[in-house]
Formats: sequence, structure tokens, C-alpha cells
Amino acid sequence: MPGSECHDGQITSGAFAQDLLAQQESPPAFPVSASLDLTSSCNLECRHCFLRYEEVNRQDRTTSEVIQVLDTLRDFGVLFLVLTGGDPFARKDFKPIYLAAKRNGFFLTLFSNGTLLDEDLMAFLANHPPRRIELTAYGHTEATYEAVTGIPGSYRRFRSAVDGLLRRGILLRLKSMVLRTNAHEIEAIREWALGLGCDFRYDAIVHPCLDGDASPLTERLDPAAIARFRQRDRERLAGETSDMTSTPRRQHLFECGAGLLTVHVDSRHQAHPCMSWRRDPFDMTSKPTLAAWQAHITELRNRPAPGGACDTCEDRSRCQSCVAYSLLETGTLSGAPPFFCRLVEEEKRA
Ligand code: SF4
Ligand code: SF4
Repeated sequence: MPGSECHDGQITSGAFAQDLLAQQESPPAFPVSASLDLTSSCNLECRHCFLRYEEVNRQDRTTSEVIQVLDTLRDFGVLFLVLTGGDPFARKDFKPIYLAAKRNGFFLTLFSNGTLLDEDLMAFLANHPPRRIELTAYGHTEATYEAVTGIPGSYRRFRSAVDGLLRRGILLRLKSMVLRTNAHEIEAIREWALGLGCDFRYDAIVHPCLDGDASPLTERLDPAAIARFRQRDRERLAGETSDMTSTPRRQHLFECGAGLLTVHVDSRHQAHPCMSWRRDPFDMTSKPTLAAWQAHITELRNRPAPGGACDTCEDRSRCQSCVAYSLLETGTLSGAPPFFCRLVEEEKRA
């Protein structure tokens, strides 16, 4: 995934992780890369937010509990750590948590909307720089940005964070979610970001809430529009082609590398192979061992394929769906999400 790549050195973090996996005689390897939700709270109210369902259960773990999880991730062998949320700066104890993560030697990336970054926090980050910070641009104009976030004044705070981070020399990546409300401004955001010298990426697929609530989908573009966006990108990156090979029958629950090199820890300190899969959580609150995590992930990954149309679909190699999305979109592991089937058809047409 482009978002996990590091271009600071001679080898990308993704390539480094793949090299490491290739050297393991019998995966699962240790998770090289992790993400941790410091909180599910956020100061914005985005129309597409998939964390909305957590409104009723926003009890953060304590500072010492978070630091204990950071120690566990270090003991697992994690090198690359993303601190995310909600918004990580929504925690009043962000600084001691961040410093504990620094002491553990992680290469740190922060995901944020940026609107809580005041002068004090930016000076703190300049003194203790992360490997990178990624801010999401929800619009190029104030009207569009705040139509997405629902909070007056948020655009001004976002722009001031971008300026402040760049002024302090902190490596910044800008990204966007393509929504019905802001799709007409994505090109302008891209040009603005590149003009600032920042890396830019976007995600065009809005997902339902993690409990299956479909309300964010009112912001999802239809498959034809998403295919057009991607076609424009392919034309820009002349030479890039999508995978056109047909796929053998699916054998196991997971076909991707989720859980082998990655672990996601949610704000209640339950671990999952990726951000989109929340079944069968692994409890991180009791200082588990790496062997316990490996046994958990091996059992999960070795479960047989769930059956259904995706198992034998010849387009699976170019389809972004997986069991996690089947579950979110259809309520079953074996359901073929119609949106993804249509997206594959549109991409083939494009
Ligand atoms: S900034 Fe992120 S976490 Fe906050 S409301 Fe928007 S989508 Fe949700
Ligand atoms: S979602 Fe549709 S296109 Fe994708 S693998 Fe399943 S059946 Fe094939």
C-alpha cells in the first residue's frame, strides 16, 4: 500500500518488511509494522466517519495502560508505528504517550486531521520529530472542507497546522478521502499539496461503520466515478497496469498479508490483523507474549475460505474486496459485496 511506504532512506519500509518476510522460514513473522488508536474521540464530525458508532463508548484507556501496550508492541518486535485515532491529539496526555513511544525506538508516523495542532504541540513535535505526520485535507475551500467536517473554524485551523509543520521542517504528507461533497476539489487539493512539496495520496472508497452502520455510504462515489478517478491516476503514472491475471480458488480466510507483518490495536486495546477486521479480537491488556499473538494469527489465517462467489471469482486479483469487506458490506463472510463487483466491472471498462 503506498501509504505504508517510507522514502526517507534507500529502501522503502514496505520493501524492508517484504524482505524480512521472505527471510522467515515459517511465517508468521513478528509484526514489523503496527498502528494504534490512541482514542476513538475526535473534535470533528465528518460525514463519512466510520468511527461514529463508537459515540456511546468513548472511554479512553489510561496513560499507563497505553504505555504498557507500547512496551508490548516493542517486545513483539514492531519497528514502524502509526499513532492514530479518532484524532491522537484529542488526548490530553498525548505528550507523555508520544515520548514513551519515542523511548521505545519506534519509527513514528502520526495520522491526524491537524485541527488540534496548536503552537505548543507543533513546537513539541519539532523538538521530538516523528518520521512523518499525515494530515487529511477534506476540501480545498473553506466551504467544502467544513461541509465535510461539520465544524466552523476547522478549515482555518487545518491550514495553520500545515503552515506551522512545514515552517518547522516536519515531514508532512497530505491525503484526502474522495467524497460526494469534495470530489470536485480533489484535483485542486492534489496540486496544492504537490506545490507545497508534500507527498499526496487519496482514498476513493468510503466504508460503512465498523459495526456495519451504512450511514457513511451516503458520501461514497458510485463505482463508475471511482473508476474514472483511478484511470486518471493510471494515465498520470504512465506504464502502471492493474493485475489482469485470473485467480485460483481461494483457500483460506485471508489472502493478503494481514497479521503476518502488521497488527492494529484499537482504542480498547484489542488487536486485529488489520483496521477493517474486528472479529475475534486479541486482548493486549494482559501483556501477552509474541508467541500468543502468533498462535492467534496462525489459527485465524488458517481458517478455510468462507465459500460464496468470491472464492472462485476470476477477477479476485484485481478486486479490493476481502472477507473483512464482505462482512462489513453484506453481514456475512461469504457475501460478494455488489459495490466491489460493480467497481471491478467499471475498472475493466476503463
Ligand atoms: S477527522 Fe477522522 S476520526 Fe475525526 S471525524 Fe473526521 S473521519 Fe472521523
Ligand atoms: S466482490 Fe465480486 S468481483 Fe470481487 S472477488 Fe467477490 S465476486 Fe469477484
